[in-house]
Amino acid sequence: MPESLEVFLDQQLNELKEQGLFRTFRILEGPQGARARIDGRAVINLSSNNYLGLNTHPKLRAAAVRAIEELGVGSGAVRTIIGTMAIHEELERRLAEFKRTEATLVLQSGFTANAAVLGPILADGDLVISDELNHASIIDGIRLTKAARRVYAHNDMDALEQVLRDTRGQYAKTLIVSDGVFSMDGDIAPLDRIAELAEHYGANTMVDDAHASGVLGERGSGTVSHYGLYGRWDIQVGTLSKAIGAVGGYVACSQKLRQLMEHRARPLLFSTSHPPAVTATCIAALDLLASDKGQALIDRLWENTRMFKSGLESLGFNTGISQTPITPVIVGAGARAMQFSDRLFAAGVFAQGIAFPTVARDKGRVRTIVTAAHTRADLEEALNVFESVGRAMSLI
Ligand code: PMP
Repeated sequence: MPESLEVFLDQQLNELKEQGLFRTFRILEGPQGARARIDGRAVINLSSNNYLGLNTHPKLRAAAVRAIEELGVGSGAVRTIIGTMAIHEELERRLAEFKRTEATLVLQSGFTANAAVLGPILADGDLVISDELNHASIIDGIRLTKAARRVYAHNDMDALEQVLRDTRGQYAKTLIVSDGVFSMDGDIAPLDRIAELAEHYGANTMVDDAHASGVLGERGSGTVSHYGLYGRWDIQVGTLSKAIGAVGGYVACSQKLRQLMEHRARPLLFSTSHPPAVTATCIAALDLLASDKGQALIDRLWENTRMFKSGLESLGFNTGISQTPITPVIVGAGARAMQFSDRLFAAGVFAQGIAFPTVARDKGRVRTIVTAAHTRADLEEALNVFESVGRAMSLI
């Protein structure tokens, strides 16, 4: 390796180590369960996005196995060549029903779904207005366009209106983009207010519902449903990697937008489509969500959310502004957050430590996510561990 890269790598890694932010991956030894074996230790798992416990659901596993037997393990090409299988189109019809939109387009991941939609619709002479805490994939998706960009303070509707007022009439199109549920704080974007502002100022709207799909709204349809905005919202991005239990992302939108993405979305044009097993798994998840069993899982998720969140709050932890199953426990410096996470782990709870640059330097935290698969006993035990480690570290 030429010395210049070697020197650079040493310098970057040493910097991370000096800041106490250097880490290695934790290894999951077995399935992604509410209790899991991680790095040789049996722990309560509070770090997975497996909101409804579908990662290991028997109906989803059976659908995946059937698809492998009937259709094989790979799709063999990108969508525009010969990688569009009937099962891909079936999933897209089902997702359009789920989101109540004319059409959807499925991509390899939620991350690529954001790039897939932003690229084709934003050109030079357009403006995109983005919440400051939007997900990295929205930020990167925007960076790949030539549109002008403005960022507004998190969920601050006065700040958003100010930008809309200041820029009125200056751009061909204006797009407002927000996460539906913010992944680090667990709060919900005020889509009702965003929709009103967009209508007033003639802007278009896009939400990334990665953490809301399968969680919020009618049968888990997401934040547009949660606020009753069907027909008043332009673009809904979703992921198939969290509550739906497999992997992938999608854009739910008009038929015309789907048609444009079929021609212009670079992740669709230049990267192979999902293997049939993934697609079949997602269809089975949507079947489940449409049934009483699916509703029972969503109800269970929210019961667990209320119980665990109020438990952390009554212990005296700073849980920020969360309204959803994502509950941060904010401790300050990033290194302290990492230490808190390590001590929880040693005591039998896995809650990922999160530090700068993922969150602000003084907002280091461990992030907890409860799922429908946790039992009350799991969560009570986890709260006891939080209490004893929190006291030992003088956090409460
Ligand atoms: N958007 C948000 C808000 C997310 O939290 C994530 C996942 N971290 C993504 C998009 C990306 O989704 P995926 O994991 O399916 O690529």
